[in-house]
Parts: sequence; structure tokens; C-alpha cells
Amino acid sequence: MSVAYDVVAQEGAPARPLPAAARSPVPPAQARLLDSVAAFTHHRDIDALDHSLALSLAELAPARAVVLCKRAADGRRLESLVRCAADAQGTFSLCVRAPVDDDPALAPVWRCMDQQQSLAEADAGDCRLYVPILHEGRALGALQLESDAPLEGARALAEGFARIYANYITLLNESERDKLTGLYNRRTFERHLQRLFHCPVAARAADERRASHAAPVGVWLAIFDIDHFKRINDTYGHIYGDEVILLLAQQMRASFRLADVLFRFGGEEFVILLAGQDEVQARSALERFRERVAGYLFPQVGHVTVSVGYALAAMGDYPETVIDRADKALYYAKAHGRNRTHGYEELAGRGELVAEPSTGSIDLF
Ligand code: GH3
Ligand code: MG
Ligand code: MG
Repeated sequence: MSVAYDVVAQEGAPARPLPAAARSPVPPAQARLLDSVAAFTHHRDIDALDHSLALSLAELAPARAVVLCKRAADGRRLESLVRCAADAQGTFSLCVRAPVDDDPALAPVWRCMDQQQSLAEADAGDCRLYVPILHEGRALGALQLESDAPLEGARALAEGFARIYANYITLLNESERDKLTGLYNRRTFERHLQRLFHCPVAARAADERRASHAAPVGVWLAIFDIDHFKRINDTYGHIYGDEVILLLAQQMRASFRLADVLFRFGGEEFVILLAGQDEVQARSALERFRERVAGYLFPQVGHVTVSVGYALAAMGDYPETVIDRADKALYYAKAHGRNRTHGYEELAGRGELVAEPSTGSIDLF
């Protein structure tokens, strides 16, 4: 049998059991709510948190569907929609999609984020409630609840979930992201790699390519390292060095697709995971980025270049093996003039890497 204790125990003094009245069982509705909150804040992975939030809210509201609309870091677009909807039997299923910019159906979502307050709409038995997810005066996104019946009764619940979610997602984001650039940090790398391997769209594209004997598509891992970065620090100081790192991260965001996953691995080294592309496409995306950086005028510092190494990550490869291959190609690019892009497979195929020592420029796990 469990005994409830007074939570405010004096230091050194034994905790006192609560009075009998305080030990009465939690009413079922509150117990469900507590279970739900405990379940969704149990996750350490943002995707799992998002799914669990949408599902918990759909079950508790109750709602026919709940959509979690997430705003991109730049605030100008929505980056994903996590929709949890019930089928005819009442079984919930989840789907995640990228929103279409300027979709008129999302206008109320934007209105509730801009006004930073909840909105209710009803149109011939189609009732909707929009609740902003607010953190430090900014809307991180919104919850959209859909039902056949008015949802006003679910408003306090949805607003409470939005507050808990805002606090929790901020903590998770801080632990997953690099402070300076906002890119993912290295700790999250392996999880992102596994997710790309199991992404249904990428897996289907790979199967179709195999069936048609076209060039294989897969996950490509690229490493960038800024050329002669020490000189930048030595000439202009660390603050300008940091500014270069920050602007480079912005160039990465502007250059790669939303589906590509961007990391700062440490120092002035960055990693990108490109999914669902063949080598020609991956290489041209990397080259486009390298040229974009070379053509960009960094304030005060002027022109900066990067060297790029990439390798194919096949399902079952150890992450450290793939990183080591991309790092060998990067080292080759550094040793052959910098401001270049090289692929491990192509170099290995030409026998170019035989004499190259292992670089160790990226610390393996
Ligand atoms: P290479 O072309 O061979 O890459 O030459 P490099 O000078 O860039 O050499 P390397 O990549 O080994 O040097 C990295 C330098 O980056 C060393 C360190 O002082 C600096 N650095 C690492 N992290 C940071 C950071 O967060 N901010 C700043 N300003 N400098 C950093
Ligand atoms: Mg380096
Ligand atoms: Mg460098």
C-alpha cells in the first residue's frame, strides 16, 4: 500500500503522512488528465512529444481531430502539421505533413498566433477551436481542435496543454540544439540518421529506384569545415569568428531543403543529412551551397570558403563509420586546395584514398 507524504519536509525532519482527507483517491477525470500529462512529458524526443500531445488532447477534449501546427524558427512559415484524427470506429491515427505556404485553411491558425489568443469558429456543425502555443511573448505554433459539437468546454484543457507543451518543448529544444546557431547538436545525430532510414517516403523512393535500376537513392552525410578559420579568429577576433559561424548556419538554412537535417557538430564543423537523393543530386546540392558561401560577403571579414566531404550512409552502417568516410573525403578536399567538394565513394573508386591518412578532424563517438 502506498502512503502519501507531505511534500514540504523540513531538512533532517522525517516527512509527515498527509491527513486522511488529503489521501482520498484522485477522481477518475483528474487521474486521466494526470496520466495524460505524465505520458506526454515522459518523452525526450520532440516528435514523440508532438504525437503524444495531439493524441492525448484528442482523447481528452474529446475532439474528432487535433492538429499541432508548428512554426518555423524564422517565424514566417509553419514548418509541420501533426494531425491526430479518429476514424469511423473512433480509433485515432497520426499523420505528419509539411504545410503549403499561404494555404487559406490555415488563416485562422495564423490569426490566433498573431492575436495570441484562442479563437472558436463554427460552421454548420463543424466546430473548431484554435489555441496559440505561447512562450515568452511569442507564438511557437497553435493547436487546432475539430469536433461536431461546440468545443468551448475543451478550451481550458487545450490552453493548459498548450502551456505545458510550450515549457517542455523549449527545454527539449535547448537540449537538442546548438546555442549559437540553433542547428541540431551532435547528440541528436544518431536518432536523426535512424529516422531518415525509416522514413516511408525515402524508403519508397529507394525501392522504386532499385526496381528501375536507376542510380541508388539513400541518405548522404556531408561534413563542412570552414577553410582557414583560425586566420579569421586571429585577424578579426572571436566575436567576428562567431558571427561567421552564425551567418554560415543561416546560409545552410537558406540553401538546403526543409527535409535535410542540419547540425553543428562543434567548432566550425557542420554536418548535413540529405535524404532520398541520388549521388548527382546530393553532390549538386552540396556544390550549390559551397558556391553560395564562396560568393557571400561576410561583414568585415569578406569572403570565406568551406571544404566539403560526403559519403553514402546505408542502412546498418555504424554512424561512426559513415562519419569517418565523409571525414576522409573532407580531408582530401582540404589537402587538394580547399573550397572543394569530394565524395568518399568516388575517391575510393579511383583509388585516391589509399595513401590518405585518417584525419581524426572529427572526434568519433
Ligand atoms: P582548415 O582550413 O585546415 O580547416 O584550417 P582552420 O584554420 O580552419 O583549422 P581548424 O579547422 O583546425 O581550426 C578550427 C579553429 O576554429 C580552431 C578554433 O580556434 C576555432 N574555433 C572552434 N570553435 C569556435 C567557435 O565556436 N568560435 C570561434 N570564434 N572559433 C572557434
Ligand atoms: Mg575544423
Ligand atoms: Mg577549418
